[in-house]
Amino acid sequence: MSEAMKTYIEQAERDLLHTYNRYQIVIDRGDGVYLYDTDGKKYLDFVSGIAVFALGYHNTEYNDALKSQIDKVIHTSNYYYNVPAVEAARKLKAVSGMDRVFFTNSGAEAIEGAIKAARKYAYLKDGTTGHEIIAMNHSFHGRTFGALSVTGNPNYRAPFEPMIGHVKFADLNDLESVKAQITDRTCAILLETVQGEGGLFPAQEEFLRQVRELCDERDILLILDEIQCGMGRTGYMFAWQRYGVRPDIMTSAKALGCGVPVGAFLMTERVAQSSLAPGDHGTTYGGNPLACAAVEKVLDLFEKDHIIENVREVAPYLESRLEELKDKYDCIAERRGVGLMQGLVFRQPVREIIDRALERGLILINAGAEIIRFVPPLVITKENVDEMISVLDTCIGS
Ligand SMILES: *Cc1c(COP(=O)(O)O)cnc(C)c1O
Repeated sequence: MSEAMKTYIEQAERDLLHTYNRYQIVIDRGDGVYLYDTDGKKYLDFVSGIAVFALGYHNTEYNDALKSQIDKVIHTSNYYYNVPAVEAARKLKAVSGMDRVFFTNSGAEAIEGAIKAARKYAYLKDGTTGHEIIAMNHSFHGRTFGALSVTGNPNYRAPFEPMIGHVKFADLNDLESVKAQITDRTCAILLETVQGEGGLFPAQEEFLRQVRELCDERDILLILDEIQCGMGRTGYMFAWQRYGVRPDIMTSAKALGCGVPVGAFLMTERVAQSSLAPGDHGTTYGGNPLACAAVEKVLDLFEKDHIIENVREVAPYLESRLEELKDKYDCIAERRGVGLMQGLVFRQPVREIIDRALERGLILINAGAEIIRFVPPLVITKENVDEMISVLDTCIGS
């Protein structure tokens, strides 16, 4: 590592709040599925900014769309209409089959909006407050208070209690555990269609169907968090589309803007008509013209560049190559995940392996202490998979 890079890292450790144990790399630029550090060293990126940069780095069409929007107008208030927001909403509705969109600045804010919509929906039904939300153990929904309150990791919540309250936890794929938490005060059941941070656990089709039925029977809203597993990652635009279990409210972010900070919560017309109304919710930046120009272009490019088709072609290959590694090493217990959202579960902490991979020009990330997570750009090829596997193999072996 050059002196210059060391200096940047020292400066960062002095000036930035120490909320991350960062990896020893200063990223300078990206091109396709590769990143370069400030010393010019090249890395194959199997993280894509944690499931964000789906289209790969330095996508000319995407960059040009942003540049031309910058030259028109970057921001206007939500008190006025703007063309990118209108177009982005229309296109997002078309690919999601949902009816109404609210753009946010992040995933956590999309969750906040979803929770507020669910509470308002229940409030309008019976005029009372304090309705309950059922969320899942091992879930992750973000770091703001509402999102943290529904995140099923007690360690994340503990120092910041009290949470928003009236949140109960059940186990993913265990219908009885969900039923056990339902009361006549339940307003929503919230889950990630595929759990990301919590360990790459997919919701099973049968479970999703049964939760949907429960919700229908009792007029409870089903909220699906598609922030990480959505936007093509599982080989479907949104992971729930694989099973056809449509949520009442859905959240998106991460790859939605492919790097421009933007999220969204979407809902059915039925929920929209009896939940949030003028005065109930708002944001200064959310869905501003620049963010929405990004969303619009991302959705165009997904179609034009056949992104989902590529995921369907490459993902089974990634799975099979990860299975080979699992069979080769006793220290690997399991592979799990869906599409280009995969995890290798180790019987030991993985930080050292990830550090070693970084030294050897491969960027990986964990999900919990003992899982390596693979969330590459959705444009990766089978050759990129081979390249990744051969580096990772040497990192486990030594
Ligand atoms: C990343 C993530 C969030 C939070 O999104 P931020 O943009 O970091 O606020 C919420 N839910 C899931 C499933 C996520 O993966």
